[in-house]
Amino acid sequence: MTTINIQNLVRKNILELKPYISFRDNSQFENPLLMDANESPFGEFNRYPDSTHRNLREKISAFKNISANQIAIGNGSDELIDLIIKIFCKPKKDSVLVTNPSFAMYGFYASINENEVLQLNLNDNFEIVKEEFLNIIKENQPKILFLCSPNNPTGNSIDDIEFYIQNFDGIVVVDEAYIEFSEQKSCIELINEYPNLIVLQTFSKAWGLAGARVGTAFSIEEIINLIYTVKSPYNVNVLSQNLVLEKLNQVENFQNNLNDILKERDWLKNQLEDLECISKVFPTDANFFLIEFKNAERVYSTFIECEILTSKRFPQIPNCIRINVGSKKENEKLINILKNI
Ligand SMILES: *Cc1c(COP(=O)(O)O)cnc(C)c1O
Repeated sequence: MTTINIQNLVRKNILELKPYISFRDNSQFENPLLMDANESPFGEFNRYPDSTHRNLREKISAFKNISANQIAIGNGSDELIDLIIKIFCKPKKDSVLVTNPSFAMYGFYASINENEVLQLNLNDNFEIVKEEFLNIIKENQPKILFLCSPNNPTGNSIDDIEFYIQNFDGIVVVDEAYIEFSEQKSCIELINEYPNLIVLQTFSKAWGLAGARVGTAFSIEEIINLIYTVKSPYNVNVLSQNLVLEKLNQVENFQNNLNDILKERDWLKNQLEDLECISKVFPTDANFFLIEFKNAERVYSTFIECEILTSKRFPQIPNCIRINVGSKKENEKLINILKNI
């Protein structure tokens, strides 16, 4: 599979597209007069952001030990999902393959681009059945395979994930939005082995920056260049680029918060397992639990009465509610309510 030619997978019009180049971001001057972009000379945020995200990519490059040329920054990983579909999927012709249940955004962006969304149903333990995977790709030849590991909303990681990467000759996107909470290895270390692999990570979950909208793609340089060709020039604003740079300079802070969340996750797990109203707490590698209740409707509406929002919009798993780990105080409140149901 390592002989895959990426050019053959890219839409022809995208291959022919000339990227918008900001001359400023590619110039060599130390401190030029900026009279090229019709900005105001006044104010703190009067300048456009760096369209190439150079400082941020170099910082992430050092942190992850991956070449900056193999890193793309998006306005959240949501934007990267959208761009990847646009780069590779011909509207009305190509299809994408997603597991069911999984993150809704893959199907959402594919549908906007008029690409069919094929569903690979997970088994009762929320695992992929390899034979069904092989059958569905042989029959339909989807262009992109989306794998989410740890998976949202089920919480488990995909077992033997390299099998699916190895056996798929389109683009494989591994979405690792929750990887920091997991003991599983990241697929980032596979990007130089499989040229058709794109790994997505985000600053929205463990890094606590959902409001900043910053996501990251890791892949071969050729795919990263395609992402930089199709993205909006100024997709990540100045404030967000600076904020993430700052956070990457205070990694202990991130580590402490992550450890706290993992501790709370353990505490919640123990508490949940003793509760009468629950039939199953699914194992999780993420910062949330998928929980099967004896009467999920009742629990959900009790939460609503107590002004607690949880997530139950998964028709495939009707008695299940997804609840994320909160602060100590929030978790205690949640458990107290559940004890009284
Ligand atoms: C939360 C989440 C994301 C994050 O998306 P951003 O646009 O980076 O905030 C990506 N994938 C999955 C599976 C998620 O649950």
